[in-house]
Amino acid sequence: MGEPYFRYFFLRNQDASSLWKHVEHTSWGSQMIANARGDLSKLIPITCYGDEIYTYKNSECGVVAVLAWATDYLTAESGPLERYFTIATYAQYLECDDTWPDLSKEVAARFRALVQKTDWPWSDKGYQFTFSSVTGDLKWVKERFHLHDYNANAFCSYCNVVKRDPAGRIEHTLSDFRPEAAHMQTRITHEDYIRTSSPENRHVFFTIPGFRYDRVLHDPLHSQLLGTGKVTNGSMLTYLCERGWFGELAGSYEQALGSLLNTAFKAFATWNRQQTKPVTHPRFTPARLCRKGRTFFPSLNAKGAASKALSYWLADAATHFASQPQATNLDKECAKCMVTYAEMLKVIDASPLLLDEATARRMYHLGMIHLQTTLGAHSANRNCWLLLPKHHHMLHMLTDTILRDRLNPRYQTLFCAESFVGAIGRMAKACHRASLPRRLLQRYKIRFGMMMRGLGP
Ligand SMILES: [Zn+2]
Repeated sequence: MGEPYFRYFFLRNQDASSLWKHVEHTSWGSQMIANARGDLSKLIPITCYGDEIYTYKNSECGVVAVLAWATDYLTAESGPLERYFTIATYAQYLECDDTWPDLSKEVAARFRALVQKTDWPWSDKGYQFTFSSVTGDLKWVKERFHLHDYNANAFCSYCNVVKRDPAGRIEHTLSDFRPEAAHMQTRITHEDYIRTSSPENRHVFFTIPGFRYDRVLHDPLHSQLLGTGKVTNGSMLTYLCERGWFGELAGSYEQALGSLLNTAFKAFATWNRQQTKPVTHPRFTPARLCRKGRTFFPSLNAKGAASKALSYWLADAATHFASQPQATNLDKECAKCMVTYAEMLKVIDASPLLLDEATARRMYHLGMIHLQTTLGAHSANRNCWLLLPKHHHMLHMLTDTILRDRLNPRYQTLFCAESFVGAIGRMAKACHRASLPRRLLQRYKIRFGMMMRGLGP
């Protein structure tokens, strides 16, 4: 196949040295540069990605586990099957307690060889792989690496934040988003983790040179668009309804909210038709908003792209609503919460991977104002504005990825990975569960071969 294909799949024909220069001030970046044997323009950062997919519908045990790898950041614009490469798949109903430990031991050995061996066919041309990160949704990260256990009180592995402090100290909890909050003063770094843990208790991935405790990357798709975004959208929509923006809320709560949501949906549909890329989203109902009464937390489930469109539309509506002469301070606060969130998404969408100082600061400030106003709204009405552990993870995205690394989090989002897993799921449908690990890889190789035939470097 040759070098042009190699460069296309692993570097998307880019020079990697600008990325390395950009992150040389970070502890992970400097470590990877120090491990490099030569030309930084040919040093390829890789990520290990995992997920699960429901493949066999209507069966209790239809989940297929998928493990894959890809180039970190640089190939983010590639198509799903050109970016992610399958490592292993298996039907979860065949899984036992030893499956993941056995598999991860083998995978770690392969990754060690990939980054350490110097006699690969690409080595004499100066190319080298370096292990950069692990990516996956919070559920996968929690189950496979025992990090960020969102069910625990101490749910963040990067600091000592808690959901509830037994002594009632708010500055230790997730409802403090100030940079000076107590939990923000302690960071559990890779070096701290290595110092305080014994090798036999660490995951086998720690034997891969370059694998770092602090390099489980934040995913803005699950954490924001499908996470904090759905509660922000749900809260703002509920707030606008309850404050009369779509008409008077009269009669029984659920029925009255239902009819206002109809009016709101018409307004959204009109707005949506005027956009260059309209999205599809089902009608708003109290059930879809999870708000059948005033004590139910609103949350508006939506697909990634629709979640973003809803945020933009709600930001517009909230701006008009809060500019009325009779608008209260709380109305303005809630509108600010929505507008800063939508603005942050817009800046993220419009910016390149390597952020300049001014853009990074702007993203950070928009995100911080969004978090602080969410807290303000939450304090005013706890039943309407919900705080999630994902709000805290967003705080780490703002301080770490954006402000410290000056990298655009859009390039580590799992949008593309989800499409990849979807494609693998479709391939898995034709395989019998018992022979799936082997059959699926065969089908994948055929599919990959067909793609290569139609693809020029
Ligand atoms: Zn934390």
